[in-house]
Amino acid sequence: MKNTKKCPKCQSSDIVKIKGECGPYGRGNNIAISGRTPVLVNRYLCCSCGFSEEWINQGDIKNFVEGKNGFDRYSKEFHDDQPTTHPMSYIILKITAVMVIAFIISLLLMWLLIYLKR
Ligand SMILES: [Zn+2]
Repeated sequence: MKNTKKCPKCQSSDIVKIKGECGPYGRGNNIAISGRTPVLVNRYLCCSCGFSEEWINQGDIKNFVEGKNGFDRYSKEFHDDQPTTHPMSYIILKITAVMVIAFIISLLLMWLLIYLKR
């Protein structure tokens, strides 16, 4: 639709472009890349039948090169039903967050105990 200005499903030319954006907390149509600026994804919607397609700007495609930023080539050898695995950095981040929260809670409890003893 981006190139033909026509819907491939119903041939309508009643198409709107929904620009990719990245608002607070990653809101909007984008792809988050760890430690980098999110890549914006533009969406083209057929207002006649509801079909939509998504496009990434040519200059942003380099972010998705095989092996870079954790992206795998989607090919015949690729099995889509593999369970989701998180990178080690994600797991470490989660553990750190839990430890920080536990530390804050223990500080609050200690403060409460000291406060009550008075
Ligand atoms: Zn359509």
